[in-house]
Amino acid sequence: MQRNSTLLREITLQGLKWLDPVILHTARSCTNCGRCGGACLARLRDLSPARAFRLLQLGRLDEVLTSRFLWACIGCRRCTWSCPQGLDVSKAVVRLRRLAARHPQARFPEHLMRLIM
Ligand code: SF4
Ligand code: SF4
Repeated sequence: MQRNSTLLREITLQGLKWLDPVILHTARSCTNCGRCGGACLARLRDLSPARAFRLLQLGRLDEVLTSRFLWACIGCRRCTWSCPQGLDVSKAVVRLRRLAARHPQARFPEHLMRLIM
């Protein structure tokens, strides 16, 4: 069963292999322990880092890129420090945000929009 889900995840991530290598490595190596989600100061938004990487493993990239969570991240790095796999979760979140900025349905927070417009 575990082998099947690992294989399925690998097939899904193959379809996303154009993604930034840091994002891809994090999604590939994440064991879904949830610790980064518990440590995250931005988790009260729609996603947590743990949930975001789970969605990526399921190929649901759009949901991640249109989330409010990406823009609520304050770069505290608690997710990185809490990851038992030694993954640089916060770096991957920053790379996801960079990607999200180009998404047509990106959810920029209003105060950021006011700075840009
Ligand atoms: S760096 Fe961002 S994603 Fe990581 S714990 Fe802090 S707020 Fe959450
Ligand atoms: S702490 Fe690391 S292994 Fe655990 S859910 Fe977060 S990214 Fe995945």
